[in-house]
Amino acid sequence: MPERLPVCEPHFWGNEKRYVVDALDTGWISSAGDYLTKFEQAFARACGVDHGIGVFNGTVALHLGLLAAGVKPGDEVIVGDFTMMSPVFAVLYCGAKPVFVDAEADTWCMDTAAIEKKITPRTRAILAVHIYGHPCDMDAINTVAKKHGLAVIEDAAEAHGALVRGKVVGGLSDVACFSFYANKIVTTGEGGMVVTNRGDLAAHLRAHKNLCFGQGLQRFVHEDVGFQYRMTNIQAAIGLGQVEHLGAAVERKRTIAKAYDSLLAGVPGLTLPVEKPWAKNVYWVYGILVDPDFGMTRDQLAAKLAEQGIETRPFFVGMHLQPVLREHLVPGEAFPVSKRLGETGLYLPSFMHMKDSDIERVAAAVKSLQKRR
Ligand SMILES: *Cc1c(COP(=O)(O)O)cnc(C)c1O
Repeated sequence: MPERLPVCEPHFWGNEKRYVVDALDTGWISSAGDYLTKFEQAFARACGVDHGIGVFNGTVALHLGLLAAGVKPGDEVIVGDFTMMSPVFAVLYCGAKPVFVDAEADTWCMDTAAIEKKITPRTRAILAVHIYGHPCDMDAINTVAKKHGLAVIEDAAEAHGALVRGKVVGGLSDVACFSFYANKIVTTGEGGMVVTNRGDLAAHLRAHKNLCFGQGLQRFVHEDVGFQYRMTNIQAAIGLGQVEHLGAAVERKRTIAKAYDSLLAGVPGLTLPVEKPWAKNVYWVYGILVDPDFGMTRDQLAAKLAEQGIETRPFFVGMHLQPVLREHLVPGEAFPVSKRLGETGLYLPSFMHMKDSDIERVAAAVKSLQKRR
């Protein structure tokens, strides 16, 4: 059996271990400590914003971010149907209602042209999830939001370092949320961050991630319901070692993607990921669509690759197909693009330290299976 190729694997650049050991040696292992401040500042700077608020994971970052953006029970939040579940659950945690728009056929992000039709008097916000490394068109989203007085939240968990018309994601909305799960471009094992340029929102986020403690002698007097969503100094120590190399991480992801692009170009029945002229795709994963012309289904291809030790993952299942969201769906509403993505998409190994020969091996395996129909 040839060497197993995982879809993702964390990559350490060198300083992570040193910083973690330092945090342990100095006893700063909870949520106070220098590494937390340094990581928050470095990550916010990388997003071109003033404030970063570290939290325990990306899902709670979204919960806090939506609350800070003013999402309240009964509000509607517009979000793409093709997404990972966390942003939608975060809408539900706020007691709000997710309202779905279909995906764009090429970027797989929310179809910005479909947003305006979904706005009602109850709409409070647009939640833009950057999908698999390609950013949403934030200019189009911000234009609609401004016209209708809506808040904008980015879920940038899959797009650290991606650009929209030269501006980095995370700074293109009122609040933006990141995950640092082990498979993300910057990882802290488990971890997340909310970033914002607005001082008032930063204060709200800092208070609410830490139980809304009072100030000074009033410490144990609470004005609002808070949460215990604090990031630890150990997580932040790993994160600091990671964010120091964000540029290199993004370039590596792009190099892997470009290699796949050239090796898989023209294979009948495959749709490859795009990069819009206005965007920088960071290719968090390298996703492909397996269309009927390929000669076998997505699941058959995944099984054949697995036999050769090549791991893949199927794409997300659209929100309109989620049993848990039944009461939030409009009966009979169709999301043809999202449905197709969910049925035909998979992603290939693209971990940072994979070798050129690994990429060639994966591409050759995919190609040879196409010929064998
Ligand atoms: C990974 C991810 C999250 C959630 O991150 P966790 O840290 O696992 O909670 C949220 N949104 C998207 C789009 C993600 O890919």
